[in-house]
Amino acid sequence: MLNIVLFGPPGAGKGTQSERLIQKYGLTHLSTGDIFRANIKGETDLGVLAKSFMDQGSLVPDDVTINMLKNEVLKQENPKGFIFDGFPRTNAQAKALDEFLETQNTTIALMLALDVEENELKERLLKRAEFSGRPDDANPKIIQHRINVYLKETMPVKSYYENQNKFISINGLGSVDDISEKLFEALDNIK
Ligand code: ADP
Repeated sequence: MLNIVLFGPPGAGKGTQSERLIQKYGLTHLSTGDIFRANIKGETDLGVLAKSFMDQGSLVPDDVTINMLKNEVLKQENPKGFIFDGFPRTNAQAKALDEFLETQNTTIALMLALDVEENELKERLLKRAEFSGRPDDANPKIIQHRINVYLKETMPVKSYYENQNKFISINGLGSVDDISEKLFEALDNIK
């Protein structure tokens, strides 16, 4: 199995690049944000809970997120590997993911990070709000809070993978195709 974590701040392009990576490598895409949004749409208990955090731009609690993620992994039959998009977002999630993957006799091969500076992120998110319908994209205050949460709670996850020599950062500015090429190159190098 080939398991990758796609990392980066809100608006860095993780969703867009995930699609490219799935196509090329036949991996299963697990976006915790997408799964929460599907639950919100389906009005499940998980959706109701997640919405109260997401609308504020705060993280959904670790235990809820970790359990959901594990269930999603276990649902897949004979997966070739996973792209984890938006997960892990805290060190506790990263540790839980490692422990869980070990029980499945697999591991994370690489964390690929998309590096984009803050002003560009804000512009992108406000633009995305025009068609995403996401309440957390439409409000500059909530966007700022998401970026702050990213800096405080999620950035440390980078060191977690750096310490395992599994971290590669890629410039997230430029054309979608150019960025995909750089991601492919990084992945092909470790395969
Ligand atoms: P973005 O990367 O643009 O913030 P996501 O779809 O990845 O978009 O996440 C949207 C929201 O979903 C987050 O602000 C958070 O509330 C929730 N969420 C997603 N993934 C996680 C996670 N791993 N842990 C906790 N909350 C999460």
